[in-house]
Formats: sequence, C-alpha cells, structure tokens
Amino acid sequence: MADTDARKRQVLIVEDEFVNREILKAILSPEYEVFCAETGTEALRILREQAGRLSQVLLDLNLPDMNGLEILRTIRSDLDLSRIPVIVLTSDTDSEVESLNSGAGDFIPKPYPRPEIILARVRRSIELNENRDLIRGTERDNLTGLYNREYFFRYAEQYDAYHPGEAEDAVVVDVSHFRMINERFGWVYGDRVLQRIGTALSAEVKDNGGIVCRREADTFQMYCPHRTDYEAMAERIAEAAGGDGKGRVRIRIGVYPEADRGIPMERRFDRAKSAADTIRSSFSENVAKYDKDLLEKEIFAARLMDDFHEAIEKHQFVVYFQPKVAIQEEPARVCGAEALVRWKHPELGMVSPGVFVPLFENNGLVRKLDNYVWREAAAQIRRWKDEFGRAVPVSINVSRVDMQDPELEETLRRLVEDNGLDFGDLHLEVTESAYTQDSEMIIRVVERLREQGFKIEMDDFGSGYSSLNMITQLPIDALKLDMMFIRNAFRENGNTGMLKVTLDISRYLNVPMIAEGVETEEQMLTMKELGCDIVQGYYFAKPMPAEEFSKYLK
Ligand code: C2E
Ligand code: MG
Ligand code: MG
Repeated sequence: MADTDARKRQVLIVEDEFVNREILKAILSPEYEVFCAETGTEALRILREQAGRLSQVLLDLNLPDMNGLEILRTIRSDLDLSRIPVIVLTSDTDSEVESLNSGAGDFIPKPYPRPEIILARVRRSIELNENRDLIRGTERDNLTGLYNREYFFRYAEQYDAYHPGEAEDAVVVDVSHFRMINERFGWVYGDRVLQRIGTALSAEVKDNGGIVCRREADTFQMYCPHRTDYEAMAERIAEAAGGDGKGRVRIRIGVYPEADRGIPMERRFDRAKSAADTIRSSFSENVAKYDKDLLEKEIFAARLMDDFHEAIEKHQFVVYFQPKVAIQEEPARVCGAEALVRWKHPELGMVSPGVFVPLFENNGLVRKLDNYVWREAAAQIRRWKDEFGRAVPVSINVSRVDMQDPELEETLRRLVEDNGLDFGDLHLEVTESAYTQDSEMIIRVVERLREQGFKIEMDDFGSGYSSLNMITQLPIDALKLDMMFIRNAFRENGNTGMLKVTLDISRYLNVPMIAEGVETEEQMLTMKELGCDIVQGYYFAKPMPAEEFSKYLK
C-alpha cells in the first residue's frame, strides 16, 4: 500500500550484478522501500534526489563505471549526504580497511549470509545512525547549525586535551544593536544575518583550527589557537553578515587571549564577554581584549556588590538633589529637582552612581536601591511641602529593570499616598534606551503610570536609537536632552544645529525640553534664546544634600 510505503524507511542498493541485486531486494523489500542502482552514476543521481530521505546505502565496490570507494568518499564529504550510513558489500577482505577509512559503517560479505543476518545488520546500522542523529540534533543550534553552548564547553575542554601546551584564545562575537536589525527589517531577515555570521565564523576556524558555537541570541563563541587578526575578522564577519546590503551590521569582538587554562572554561568566556561589553556603546572600536585593568575593574565591581546590602542597612546611600530651573520665566525659577543617589562608602569614599548603577542593573540589586532612593525622595517632598507650603516636584530615576517589576505601580502609588503627595509631585525619568530595548512592555507600563497621574520624562534623549516615528507615539510629558548635545554644540567649532533640531522635536510633540549639563552662562543664554524651557546643570547648581537644597530654595 502506498500509505505504508510512504512511512517505510528508504534503502539504496548499489550493485551491478543482477542476481546479487535481486537477492538483496527480495530480502529487504518487505521492510524497506528499496531503490536500486546498477552503476555509480545512477547511484549518485538517486543519492542526490533522495538525499533527505535515504536511511541506508548498501554499496558494492566493483562497479562498471567507477570504484565504489569514490562514491563512499563523495557521500562522506557532502554535507547533505554525510549523515547516511553505508554498508559495503565485498568479497575481498583487503578492501575492508580502506572502506573503513573512507567511512563505511559495516560490511556484508559475499557470498551473502542468511537473510536474517543481512536484515539484522541493516536494522542495527539504521538504528545506530538515527540515535546519533538525535544526539547531534541536541548538540546543535537549530538556526545556525553550530554547536550549542553546553556542547561547546565540553568540546572546548576536549580541544584543550588534544592540544596540550598550545595557547588558545576565548573569543565572544556580538552583533551591535541586533534588536534594531530585527525591528527594522523583521525577524526573518534577522535570522538570516545570524545564519550568515554562523557560516562566516565556521570559515574562520576552518583553516586555522578551533571551534565555534552560538552562545545565545546574537552572541557567538569561538575557541581557537592564539591569533592576532581580530580587527580584520570583525570586518570579514560584518561584511558577510550584511550580505545583501540592507544595512551595515556592526560586529563587536571580545578576546581573552591566551586564556589561562587554570580557570574553568565558562569563566574564560565570561572574561571575553566582559571585554566585548566594554565597547558596547562605542562606534569606533570593534575589538576589545581582556587585560589586567579589566580584571581589576571586575574585582572592584565584585567588592561593591558584596558591600551592597550592608550599605542599605547602614544608610550609606545618600540622596542628593539638583535643581531644575525654568529659564523662560522672569526671573528664572526653580521648578523642580532631580534625585541623584550617592554612595558614601566607609573605605572607598564617595562612589558615583555612574559606577555602581549600571553594575546593579545587571544583577537586579538596582530595584532595592531605587526603592530606597524613591522613599527618601518622597519623604523629602513631604518635608518641603510642610516647610515652604508648596511642592517641589522631584524626578526620580526609574531603571529599565524597575520597569519589569510587576509591583512597580503599587510601590509608587503607595509612596504617594503614604506621604500625602499628589501624583504630579513625583516625576519619573525613564531612559530613552529602555524604550528602544523593550518598547512594547515599557510603553504599556508607562501608559498605566500616566493614567495614575505620574509625569514621565524621557531621560538621555538623543542617546538611544528611537526613530522620530517611534517617539511621536510614545506617552511622555517631557524630554530630557542628553548632555552630549550641549557638549558637542559648544565644543571648538561646534554649532547649535542639532540643538535646534531636538527643540523642534519637543515643540512638535508639545512637551517641554529639559537640557542637562548646562555649565556656563553662554550655554544657558543660548538655550534660553533657542526656546528651551528648563535647564539643569552646574551653571545653576551641582547636586546637593537636602538641607543645602532647602537653603538654595530660600
Ligand atoms: P542622569 O539621570 O542623566 O543624571 C544626570 C547626571 O548629570 C548626574 O550625574 C548629574 O550629577 C550630572 N550633571 C548634572 N549637571 C551637570 C553638569 O552641568 N555637568 C556635568 N558634567 N554633569 C552634570 P550622576 O549624579 O553622577 O548620575 C549619573 C547617572 O546615574 C544618572 O544620569 C542616572 O542615570 C544614574 N542614577 C543616578 N541616581 C540614580 C538612582 O537613584 N537610580 C537609578 N536607577 N539611577 C540613578
Ligand atoms: Mg536622570
Ligand atoms: Mg539624564
């Protein structure tokens, strides 16, 4: 029946002698769908046609048009065919060794043994091979066909064992802003980029040795003999990845060169990853090496993480306030403040949030820290309300990590209620890059917070990668211009063109612009002339403790 035939496994018999062919066919037909070839040429044609479906080849070595070993070698060296097991049919024990070397899995001697023996051998060969396929399936990443991360680490250990005394590099290869590639060109295109990177990486280790895998998402790993051409490699991979020229793909490589064999394999790659992360936001560097400086930084980071909980308990974190000044009013008026955390570390002295916030964002500690800062800030708004009879709205920084907290709305609502504040007294700063990283989720959370009455300010505006199109759809109440714009505009030969553009955007969105990092009178006056509403910067005041801020207000 055709129905059962469709489900039978396929076997190809390559045999030029009529009698032998018919015997095998008769033995195998009840169990398998059998194809027969009388010549090498015919065999290769059937192999190509049925490549994906053949479960077994039975191969005679003496064919009229070619040596069977040639066919064997073709099968073994072809990506599509190499998974098919081959049993060699031979009357000549000498050729057994050669066939084995060429990749035969088993033999059936001529004259043929009993039918049960032939059937048993074919069954066993197919079964063994299918088991191996299964294993290989779990070793491999479906998208790129490279090893997956777990197997990679095992093979890397083996690689060490086979190459004693050789210096190996642990390498991590990353795509810069892969999310934006997906966003702009779609997932299918993104997948193709990853596949092309996989192919390019395989080519890199083909001649020079080494192994590669996909670590996760858009990150790959390579373990290879020490080499020095990583800049050129980054170029080659970027070139291959961009293939059809839709947009330039930027490749970032982190190398832990001549990795210390004394530390676990995974840690060696964590080091390479740390190196890659140091150039995450750089436009000029494609390659970073793990060195002593980085090691020291990591030790420092580990120290800060160890000290965190005690620091919270002992109130080592102090909240400073920096005024926001409405410059279009006469006279200019303090219209709010930003709460900025400082760490008064008993041994390390004053530590800047620029150092520890990114660190605590990576391991979630930032949620605890921010909850602490927000409580302090809310209590301070209450005190000022009592002292001055009016609220000084305070903006607090809400990390992208906080946005994932299902309790966020509840936490903030309680802060307002417990301190008897209005929702409008608390402004929330969400950085632009959070919007571009997980836009849908962030937009949902921000919309709900706004419905409650919180004011949302987009922090570091201009440093992320949101398109104009995207920004017009975002729920926000103010733009906080990234400090870089002021820096660039007032450098030697700087010009204010970009500042004008950003101010046009804020007008178009009908939200106020807050300029950060205004340090000189010239900068302040220019911003005022350009129509900027609010300025925050050293020109007016640095961030300061609450008591000092109270004096400043008076
Ligand atoms: P940000 O939110 O963009 O804060 C503005 C930063 O610019 C502050 O640095 C502030 O002191 C600095 N700044 C203000 N005016 C000037 C100026 O005229 N010149 C210069 N050179 N700098 C100026 P800070 O306090 O070191 O904070 C750095 C970043 O750390 C903040 O950037 C924010 O992203 C993060 N951060 C600070 N406090 C917190 C917090 O409580 N929670 C979270 N999640 N992040 C925080
Ligand atoms: Mg901020
Ligand atoms: Mg900012």
